[in-house]
Amino acid sequence: MATLNSLKQALRQKAEATNPSSKQSLSVTQYSAGFDILMQGPGWTTYKDFIIPQLSELLATLCTSRSHISVLEIGPGPKSVLGYLPTRLRRKIGKYTAFEPNGLFAAKLEEWLYSASLDTESPLPSVKNAPDIFQNPFVLQDVREHDKKYDIILFCHSMYGMNSKQKYIEKALGMLVEESQGGIVVVFHRDGALNLGSLVCHRTASFPTGVVRVLDNNEALDCFAPFVAGFVPQDAITRDNWRKVCRALGRNDGAHPGRILFSAPDIMMAFNKHATSLPDLLTQVPSANGGKVVKNWEARIHSPACIVRPTAISHVQKCVRWALKQEVGLTILGGGHSGHCLRPNVVAVDMGAFDQIDIIATRDDDIDSGPNSDSGPLVFVEAGCKTGDIIRKTTTMGVTVPLGARPSVGAGLWLQGGIGHLARSHGLACDAVVGAVVVSVVTGDILCLGRVPSSHWPVGGVRPSNEAELFWAICGAGTNFGIVISVTFKACRAPTFSTRNWIVPLSDNLEARQRLRDFDDLVARKLPRNYSADAYLYWDVGKLHLGVTMFESITPTTASTPSPIDVGAILGLEDDSKPLEESSATVDGVGLFEAEMYVSRMHGGHGGGKTSSFKRCLFLKRIGEVNVVDSLVAAIATRPSPLCYLHLLQGGGAIGDIGPDATAFGCRDWDFACVITSVWPRHQDGTEASRSAVQWVYNVVGDLLSLRNCTGVYGADLGPDPRDVVLAAKAFGQNGTEIARFKGISDPHRVLAYACPLPKTPTQQKLIILVTGESCAGKDYCADAWVSIFPRCARKPLTARVSSISDATKREYAAASGADLGRLRFDRAYKEHHRPTLTVFFQEQVRQRPRLPEEHFLEVVHDATDVEVLLITGMRDEAPVAAFSHLVPDCRLVEVRVQASERERRTRRGLSGIENGADNSKDSDKDRPNIAALNYCPSLIFDNDTAGNRAAERFAERHLFPLVHEDLQRLANMVRSVPDFPRPNIEFRHVLGIAQQPDGLALCTSLLETHFIGDWGKVDAIACCEVGGLVYAPALASSVDVPLVLIREAGKLPPPTVSVTKTSSYISSVESKNAKEKKMEMEQGVVRRGASVVVVDDVLSTGETLCAVLQLLNEAGVIAENVSIMVIAEFPAHRGRQLLRQRGYGRVPIQSLLVFDGV
Ligand SMILES: Cc1cc2nc3c(=O)[nH]c(=O)nc-3n(C[C@H](O)[C@H](O)[C@H](O)COP(=O)(O)OP(=O)(O)OC[C@H]3O[C@@H](n4cnc5c(N)ncnc54)[C@H](O)[C@@H]3O)c2cc1C
Repeated sequence: MATLNSLKQALRQKAEATNPSSKQSLSVTQYSAGFDILMQGPGWTTYKDFIIPQLSELLATLCTSRSHISVLEIGPGPKSVLGYLPTRLRRKIGKYTAFEPNGLFAAKLEEWLYSASLDTESPLPSVKNAPDIFQNPFVLQDVREHDKKYDIILFCHSMYGMNSKQKYIEKALGMLVEESQGGIVVVFHRDGALNLGSLVCHRTASFPTGVVRVLDNNEALDCFAPFVAGFVPQDAITRDNWRKVCRALGRNDGAHPGRILFSAPDIMMAFNKHATSLPDLLTQVPSANGGKVVKNWEARIHSPACIVRPTAISHVQKCVRWALKQEVGLTILGGGHSGHCLRPNVVAVDMGAFDQIDIIATRDDDIDSGPNSDSGPLVFVEAGCKTGDIIRKTTTMGVTVPLGARPSVGAGLWLQGGIGHLARSHGLACDAVVGAVVVSVVTGDILCLGRVPSSHWPVGGVRPSNEAELFWAICGAGTNFGIVISVTFKACRAPTFSTRNWIVPLSDNLEARQRLRDFDDLVARKLPRNYSADAYLYWDVGKLHLGVTMFESITPTTASTPSPIDVGAILGLEDDSKPLEESSATVDGVGLFEAEMYVSRMHGGHGGGKTSSFKRCLFLKRIGEVNVVDSLVAAIATRPSPLCYLHLLQGGGAIGDIGPDATAFGCRDWDFACVITSVWPRHQDGTEASRSAVQWVYNVVGDLLSLRNCTGVYGADLGPDPRDVVLAAKAFGQNGTEIARFKGISDPHRVLAYACPLPKTPTQQKLIILVTGESCAGKDYCADAWVSIFPRCARKPLTARVSSISDATKREYAAASGADLGRLRFDRAYKEHHRPTLTVFFQEQVRQRPRLPEEHFLEVVHDATDVEVLLITGMRDEAPVAAFSHLVPDCRLVEVRVQASERERRTRRGLSGIENGADNSKDSDKDRPNIAALNYCPSLIFDNDTAGNRAAERFAERHLFPLVHEDLQRLANMVRSVPDFPRPNIEFRHVLGIAQQPDGLALCTSLLETHFIGDWGKVDAIACCEVGGLVYAPALASSVDVPLVLIREAGKLPPPTVSVTKTSSYISSVESKNAKEKKMEMEQGVVRRGASVVVVDDVLSTGETLCAVLQLLNEAGVIAENVSIMVIAEFPAHRGRQLLRQRGYGRVPIQSLLVFDGV
């Protein structure tokens, strides 16, 4: 499958060879038709999974510092991609300008921008003035727009037709706003490699898996090929040749017969105003002047802005300070084996000049004290050294360090784990690290951690206050927190290694199962720590093979011991038809590099010629189990190239001696590290062959990950490919969340944005508290008390702010009436004086703009993107949670109604400006405002009759803190998202799946029990209906000791029953193809009339089910006033609360543990 770019080259060449003079530019309609093909089917996936999320992230950062942003979009097409951003970001766009040379597109774009209806707002609702849509290309010479400035300039469709792309970017850079936090130029380009010279990008990301699908018929190809080539051939022969080129280069996909697929990798680059600042750096730090060998082919395809080669720590500091100042990232180049070391238009820091190795010998009898002891010789290693350098130098001194199997691998290995043949006896490479010197990417300071030999203590080096935490993170996840200058290893005595090999041809799967099981049970598990056994599964000379190498490490003090098992007998037993190939040798650590089976024996030493490879590594337990063996054998059977293989490196022993939380390397419990390696001839780099080889690795990884035998992923191998994001989540075991959190602290400006991907930090869902109540109940006072307590929350300090929703109205009223805005806001008497006219003013505004309350609400929410808890005062709306929650479906919205006795309120009214007066007189129920008079039920009620903050604070601790407790986040993390289910473009949240997670049901039960705002002692029954309620309610009922009431589909419960008819929501009707109406029943008399009932269900979306349940309970004599609802998850977008209210159930309290955006 060719890329679009190679298709373009091939089409142009063919046209040149066939009839060079027969070219014509594409007409507007021809261009549109080609463009449509690009956007259909999988083409849209690139937008959905890459462009829209990337753009959202960039805009979200920009929007935190601005109330509105201005956008210039170049070549948007018939609709702007901005229209697909989350609502809150679309609403931030206040000004929109576009250059769209295609007249058809320009007209459609304009029409689309104005496409608001009664139910839907326009795509960019805050663009108040008519957007400027220029129906011509954005050209370098054009000066008309030069004086206009933008926050964001977007080239979305691959800079179509722009030849010197760097110049266009430079022109756009000149059109960015000049505020301190300037704007950004963003380019999305459908070509995996985009060279923009020495421009330095602020952020970059790639999407290698983009695909475009085109119908395999002449009409479609005649439309698609000219669009890709950029011109229309005028002769039939070229047209015919072009069809042949498309068919030859595209791939026919069995899943989509009659279609041809082309690869369309996409890249994003974002530039800020510092994009041209490379010369500043080059005056301070030497550049590499070529010569650096980058081993990784993924990295090699990128053109960095420059490779610098610091020769002193001060140079590294200058790189960091330059990057901080320019707000750009850096890549660090160690051994060059990972896909991170070079990124397009990012400065790479080659550490090669830091190549010192120093063995600091202590007493000889300390040598074998092992890596975990505090005494022993130290090996000081700078970050530009390679594994081979270290082993060669230390071996000559009789010591060594447990490193990996290839001599060319660099610091990335010992910073991120380091698995080698000494791991079972001495642990991982990162376990032997006892000290490090690191340049901080927060300040550029030199930080010394742990044991740094005094002879190597750098000038200016300091111990950081978080030394222990940073050292913990460096040992196992060390590429993400600073630029490591050197590490100190604890050495061990250098052993010699006795190696023995077996190569066993396997006749079928059964034999493979038997042999691998025997290998695991009878060989590997029986070996002492100074032995390790590796296995290989590979295909050679037309047969599947099992290769086994056994390594014994021998030191003078641990002389060679005979193998406790007769391996030959075991591996030979099942293969009496073929003699075993056995050979043995004794080598030192250096010789060991050549003893690896994949280097010396397999595939004739790996094909002999130049090859490229791609690998990912998973940790497995019990590899002899049938499911594992079958997956491994199936993997080899589907290998896309004959050279692919699986390598199983034995673990256990000293690796597991260290607790999973003792270092950042959290995956300690595994028997084998399974390296899935695809290999292809180097000349096929970047072709379909290499792409399918890479995909094979991910397919095998996907299969193995789903097995319970898989206990983790090796992070050192992960790269920038988005397919690694799922693997990153499993790369650090239980430490993932902590590492991700620490990254936020130790690299807040993302200088090391391109290191090993980390698990995503769970984002705190915003909590919005609407503080309502009658005048002088003390709303502002309480809001102030609560806002000050969130940052002091002991478990998890949260940022919080109070905003008044009425400020916007007051502003407009003051402008219209001449009233004093300051006094309206802060002078109670003045405010009271104006209240009647202010109310009339607001009512008139709402009459003219019915959506004004919603607009005000959203304005307040959008201006508070920087806080985790927002308290809103001044709401005048009835049932505001039901009315507004769909506008902020990704937030948790609750209403706290503040109430005080009439006497108290009168007192406060008298004491102008001091809301919580010192009057401690007890209220009497008689003068309490009647909550029952409200025709809805607020989420929480606070009785604000006592003076001082204490009661308000206690209320927050008891009722508000639980809403932001990490257990809710833990529960949310158990809800798996399933894209495109049950139909395309729907992201399904598997709420019922919580019950299938370890501890899921128990957590859910305890949260339901503790979050209930009523008194379980007064509840007579818990009602639940199938299927969600039936899963969660029984455990709760048992825990709170309340009987269950089962509600089921008609016909499932024995008579006599009461029943109601339920209308299916449109969601459940897509899930099941059942009729639109269903009957629901419960047994008659199962609950007494007048009982108090809690209804438990899994989900509140449209509210149809809960309405039916309430109706059914009513039929059974349980009135709505005596019912409460608790659901696991609410989807406010479907406005379920509103439906319940419309059907007369507005006074039923509804509590939801989780709130999700979407379906
Ligand atoms: C052929 C081959 C054999 C391998 N064999 C083994 C093996 O036997 N055992 C094993 O455990 N792993 C092995 N690996 C995996 C290897 O450990 C990782 O690929 C590792 O990331 C490579 O490190 P590097 O320095 O060579 O690569 P680089 O690409 O230069 O660096 C890797 C990562 O480390 C970061 N980094 C490098 N230097 C520094 C520094 N000074 N400060 C901060 N960050 C830095 C880089 O930014 C990058 O993110 C092998 C990989 C290959 C390709």
